Formats: sequence, C-alpha cells, structure tokens
Amino acid sequence: MPTNSLHPETLVLHSGSYRSDPTTNSVAVPIYQTTSYQFSSTENASNLFGFKELGNIYTRIMNPTNAVLEERVAALEGGVAALAVSSGQSASMLAIQNLCRAGDNVVASTDLYGGTWNLLANTLKNLGIEVKFADPKDPENFRQLTDEKTRAYYAETLPNPKLKVFPIEEVANIGKEFSIPLIVDNTAAPITCKPIKHGAAIVVHSLTKYIGGHGTSIGGIIIDSGLFDWVHEPKRQPLLNEPDPSYWGISFGKAVPEILGLPIAYLVRARFVLLRDTGAAISPTNAFQIIQGLETLPLRFRVHQENAQRVADFLSERSEVSEVIYPGLFQNPRDRKRNRKYLETGNGPMVGFELKGGKQAGQKFIDNLQMVYHVANVGDVRTLAIHPASTTHSQLSAIDQEKTGVTPGYVRLCIGLEHIDDILADLTQALEKT
Ligand code: PLP
Repeated sequence: MPTNSLHPETLVLHSGSYRSDPTTNSVAVPIYQTTSYQFSSTENASNLFGFKELGNIYTRIMNPTNAVLEERVAALEGGVAALAVSSGQSASMLAIQNLCRAGDNVVASTDLYGGTWNLLANTLKNLGIEVKFADPKDPENFRQLTDEKTRAYYAETLPNPKLKVFPIEEVANIGKEFSIPLIVDNTAAPITCKPIKHGAAIVVHSLTKYIGGHGTSIGGIIIDSGLFDWVHEPKRQPLLNEPDPSYWGISFGKAVPEILGLPIAYLVRARFVLLRDTGAAISPTNAFQIIQGLETLPLRFRVHQENAQRVADFLSERSEVSEVIYPGLFQNPRDRKRNRKYLETGNGPMVGFELKGGKQAGQKFIDNLQMVYHVANVGDVRTLAIHPASTTHSQLSAIDQEKTGVTPGYVRLCIGLEHIDDILADLTQALEKT
C-alpha cells in the first residue's frame, strides 16, 4: 500500500507487502522457521541468484518473517529497503564493511556507545580499517579528518551519557561534497528523529532496544535511504564500483539499479555479499518478537518520552542533584537549536543526572532502588538505571571517564512505561538515602 502519507502508528502495522499469509490468511505475521525454499524451476533459481527475480533462496540471506520487519522499519525511517541482522553490533559492522576494506578509513563521532567505540577503535583497526574520531560540537571536524581513503562518516543520533544531538544535516552535507555517505545509529531516538530526512544515507538500529522494546530479543537492522549516489565518484566507493569477483564480476553500484530498477545497490551488496559471507543472520523467531514490539513502538515511545520529561523536571528540583543531563533542559544555544531541529516529537527516553555526593552517592542511589532495574541495557518497557563510574566505565581512568561525559556521581536512567507516580516514588526514596 502507498505509505508516503501514513503516520508512524500506521506504518508499523501496515507498511510493506505483507497483508496476510497467502496460504492461511493469517493476519499476524507467521514465524517462517525454515532454512530453505523450493525453487519452482531451474530458470526461477537462476533468476533469483541473478537478481532478475526477487525471492527467497536461503534464510541466512533472506526470510519472509524477517522481510516484514525489514519493510516496516524501512518505511518508518523513510528508507527504500532494509536488512535485518543478528544484533545492533552486526548492523554497525556490516554497514561499515560494505564500504571499507583494509587501507580505507572512516571518520566517526567521538560520542558513541561503548560497544561501537570498541568495534571501531580496535576490531576494525585490526582488520586494517582506520577510524578517526571527530568531536561533533563542530561539524567541520569531520572535514578536517577526511582524506582520499575516507569511505564513510559514522555517528549516533542521541548518544549517552552526554545526550547531545548529532548535527546530522551539517555533517551529511560535508560528506556529500566528497561523495562520502553518513551512517547514523538511530537506536536511542526512533520516531522522534528521522536521520534520512536530514541527509543520512544509511541508518542503523539495535532492534534489541526501543524497537523490540521488551528486553527479549537481540537484533539489528541497516536501512538504505536509496538517496545516495554511489557511482558519482567511482574511486570514492570502490566496493560498489569495482567488479565483484564473488558475484560474477558485477559492479553492484551500476548493476543493481539497472537490473532491479531500484536504488538499493548498497543494501543488495550488504545482503548478497556480506550477509552471505559473514552469516550474521537474525533468526525468524527473533524477528517475530521484534515485530510485536515494533507494532506498538510509536505508542510506547510517546510514554517513554513523556515520563522522561517528568523525571527530568523532578530531578531538577532535588537538592541531592547538582545537574540534570536531558536534551530538553540544555541551555547552550547550539544544543537548543539542534534539539529543535532534530528531535521532532520529544527529547528522548533517557535522563542523566549528577549527584552532589559523587561516586559513593551514585552507588548508594542504585543500591537503594526498589522498583527500577539496575542493568546495563537501554530500551526496555521497565525503567532502568546504571552508575557508569562503578560499572560500564570503571575500567577507564578518571580523566577518560570525564572525557566520555561520565563523572563520579553520574547516574543514567532509561525511563520506562510504569506509572509516573511510581517511578518518581522509587527515585525519591533512593535519593533520600544518598
Ligand atoms: N547502538 C547503540 C546506541 C546501543 O546502545 C547498542 C547496545 O547497547 C548497540 C548499538 C548494540 O546493539 P546490540 O546489543 O543489539 O548488539
């Protein structure tokens, strides 16, 4: 059905080609727990392998349950196609590997999830892909670090602990001058931020977080905007322009739009080369679980954000708290301008705060929570808390902790869907014991 004019609440339920199961008329999306699919003829098999027909070959590369998830998330983000994979980490990895090989480099924002930081700074480096880190305060820092081997820019929309919104359009525009795509991890800000609208070429999500939403299933997804011109400067994107020896010597950038009539060269290469070779496939059962979450994402995210706003306001009034880190409370004109531009329906679901009593107070606060969960996760229906200085960031020096935005008394809250009065009551009693 045409999706251009539909709202997020409708897109997550109705976008894509799935209406009901063709054999049973089942309305709920079935779990197609199969590895393989019967070809109707040798001609059909050959057409599928040659992209002359689109269809199922083998579940490591595609699956009908996964396809529903892919089509709906692509529509929600305003992209043309998506590829669901085994985790958020594999989505980031494949998104970069689809453009870079040894000797190439990426310019990435300094403000990133710790797992992504490790992937970029260490694992990719060991594979010969250099990642240079740019402070997003000034978008021009991306230009400064760009050279002829730069294949992509990489950033997160709403990175914690600082919760400063990334300047998507400003950096995407610098990239366009060099034919360099911007990849944006939008895990923390679905619904409220639309990176493709602001010029991101590729969006990735950890489906494990808000989209799945219930803390049950690990998954990731890569969304292709269909708007980036991969063949404009062939030397800039060799993996999409050089003949691919693993796929009959075709050049994906040219061949895919010619054969399929769709601007999905990047996504098709990610699926048919990288997913085929690395095997980072999501299981259909996990895709099904995540679809259940996706169907209520817009409603849930509204309440996550409303509750987060209430918690931020509450914490600003507390005598135990020296600072509240929440996009809606930032006073710096640059931050306020970026929030207004990029966060359309709310300031996100996370709130950080600094306790006057430092590290000891942070630990005491966490130990005294009764309802709120103490876990290293984000994006659950339940409210979650963590004290990074004694957990996720404890291995860093005090100076490095400070650089990442983690101070001794900093606590991160991911606000859930409990009644706001119950959330505030638990926070109040724990604050009183710090
Ligand atoms: N991106 C962000 C912003 C995250 O917060 C996480 C996990 O916390 C990931 C990516 C990795 O996701 P996953 O745990 O699904 O691999």
